[in-house]
Amino acid sequence: MLEETVIRSFIDIGRDIFLRGLISSHAGNMSVRADKHLYITRRGSMMGRLHGADIIGIDLERADDPNILSASSELVVHRAIYLNTDALAVVHAHPPYGTLLSMAYGEIVPVDSEGSHLLKSIPVVTPERTIASDEAAQAVSGCLKNHGIVLVRGHGSFARGDTLEEAYMLTSSLESSAFYLYHLETLKP
Ligand SMILES: [Zn+2]
Repeated sequence: MLEETVIRSFIDIGRDIFLRGLISSHAGNMSVRADKHLYITRRGSMMGRLHGADIIGIDLERADDPNILSASSELVVHRAIYLNTDALAVVHAHPPYGTLLSMAYGEIVPVDSEGSHLLKSIPVVTPERTIASDEAAQAVSGCLKNHGIVLVRGHGSFARGDTLEEAYMLTSSLESSAFYLYHLETLKP
């Protein structure tokens, strides 16, 4: 079972992600790793209105865990991240400016101070099937070995951290950097 403080952080960070405009009402998902299990948001749940029952426990080593059917459809990507990196938490969101720039660039390099310091550069991966595919899972988890956050072209971001808060921080910082980059372009003569 998950500790009460971790359940609370799912609820609080999910609410923050929604209110920050980083996802639409029923999109996005989050997970944490605890020993040989991962705990992920329920398929179809609202990130801004999570309850304890919306957090589904999955055995990381069991491909036939019956809870898989209740879990977010992006479980395949979350699982690959935990198996291929030392991440303890993952946040997946659809940050609008970040997703917009992912359709135009192969890499995003922040020019603002916070983004330059925190993120340095954000790779963009381009799997054929951008949602819940093995190809996306391999591409995303490969990038997250060396980066804190990655964008899937035209879909959204996956961020890793030791906690949900850290993964959320990278997601919100990415969106700010993408906002600055986009509007800076429009200011140029
Ligand atoms: Zn998504």
